[in-house]
Amino acid sequence: MKTIKIFDTTLRDGEQSPGCSMNTAEKLKMAEQLDRLGVDIIEAGFAIASPGDFEAIQEIARIVKHATVCSLARALRTDIERAAEAIAPAGKRRIHTFIATSPIHMEHKLKLSPAQVMERAVEAVTLAKTFTPDVEFSAEDAGRSDPDFVCQIFAAVIQAGASTLNIPDTVGYTIPHEFAERVRYILAHTPGIQKVDVSVHCHDDLGLAVANSLAAVLAGATQVECTINGIGERAGNASLEEIVMAIKTRPDIFKNIVTRVNTREIHRSSRLLTSITGVHVQPNKAIVGANAFLHEAGIHQHGVLNYKQTYEIMDPADVGISTDNLVLGKHSGRHAFVARIQSLGLELGPQDVDKAFDRFKRLADQKKVVADEDIIALINDEIFAHMDRETYVLERLEAVSSTDQSPHARVTLLTPDGVRTVEAQGDGVVDATYKAIDEMTARPVELLDYVVQAVTEGTDAMGEVVVRVKDRGRMFTGRGSSTDVVISSAKAYLNAINKALNARQVLKPIGHNTLIEESASI
Ligand code: MN
Repeated sequence: MKTIKIFDTTLRDGEQSPGCSMNTAEKLKMAEQLDRLGVDIIEAGFAIASPGDFEAIQEIARIVKHATVCSLARALRTDIERAAEAIAPAGKRRIHTFIATSPIHMEHKLKLSPAQVMERAVEAVTLAKTFTPDVEFSAEDAGRSDPDFVCQIFAAVIQAGASTLNIPDTVGYTIPHEFAERVRYILAHTPGIQKVDVSVHCHDDLGLAVANSLAAVLAGATQVECTINGIGERAGNASLEEIVMAIKTRPDIFKNIVTRVNTREIHRSSRLLTSITGVHVQPNKAIVGANAFLHEAGIHQHGVLNYKQTYEIMDPADVGISTDNLVLGKHSGRHAFVARIQSLGLELGPQDVDKAFDRFKRLADQKKVVADEDIIALINDEIFAHMDRETYVLERLEAVSSTDQSPHARVTLLTPDGVRTVEAQGDGVVDATYKAIDEMTARPVELLDYVVQAVTEGTDAMGEVVVRVKDRGRMFTGRGSSTDVVISSAKAYLNAINKALNARQVLKPIGHNTLIEESASI
């Protein structure tokens, strides 16, 4: 059997995408789950990018038990030294260094000749090798590079000690048979390549990231880089769950090929990421979308359980979807509640369980049936939203909608200067509430986006509000949930403001040049 290594970059490439930024505590939760999922490598971040990234990688390196922990680094001494320092506490450590090899990137971005790029790559790998035997080298934009130049640079970095060579389709430009051909060509024309891992990193700009990755596996790639729910820059990365399930479901095509992933942790991993980022997958998304296995219900109703395989190519239990449809309500006990939150991938300490259970009981009094989505929303609201230091806390809110007079809101906040109350008018109650909050917080951020979504059906549903704000060039996501959307809105806005204010403290520069331009990544 040949084992394909799964290199998860949810916390690096995924986290770089708009709306998916996570703080250290959130990244740690996700890293623990990825380790349970059984991925081989966790790319935990880009150490030089910011002190926050550095700290998160270091914390992840301390807690991960099985997977290799990796940091990205440009082919620069400062980047590699910082990456080495960040991953130092890990049991298994990898440095992933990269430089662009396509004519367009070498000429317009790097302003270096191919010979200079080659020299930089060899120097970078040689230096990385002094910190760990496990060094990955990526030829950024390999999809649009001269294949012979890629072979030359790969041969040179193998000599320097690289143990994994990555062929990224950075811009998501290739077509499956073409990409497979490129992988085959590189395998055939690079001296020494048989003794190292060959990796691919595909983007989904044309919706082909998974198809390209699978074509590469059949062409001989031994590692695939991917993310949970396919999150990532622009249209995203190849989605881990689709790659792993395609390999598992079609052993006739992927002959003698396996991964180490425990597929029963897939659903839980997907849900955890959604609950952390507030970014939902579309209902028709393969494997993890809400409708992906929905025919189950219809089949149950029609009592044709014996003919499951008529429409079902995968068993939902294999991806960790529980088939017991027990719903929780006001008579559910603490034990049932704890079992459910564990099955949703949410692990809480005893104090947090107490708080969440208390909130659950109050919600169960308001609505008969408490769905999984309600539980995720309330835990986000009760626990995750308070993991950050809170400069401003909502104390009281009264808002009035009227067809006859202008809507107004009266908001009371706990602020660093004590309890303050402000009344404001607006175009609607949410607008009025935000104006009152702006006045008390001195409007520290710019509101980019506001989305309200009912987490279940019915007018008694919990309303979850997700806002995105911008502060000093960085985006922050705030979330709030309540059965009242105006209260959800206020909580979400305050959550985003608190996160942004915290980041200002963390992001004090640690030296010159530490913040890199956003375009530098694979
Ligand atoms: Mn990428």
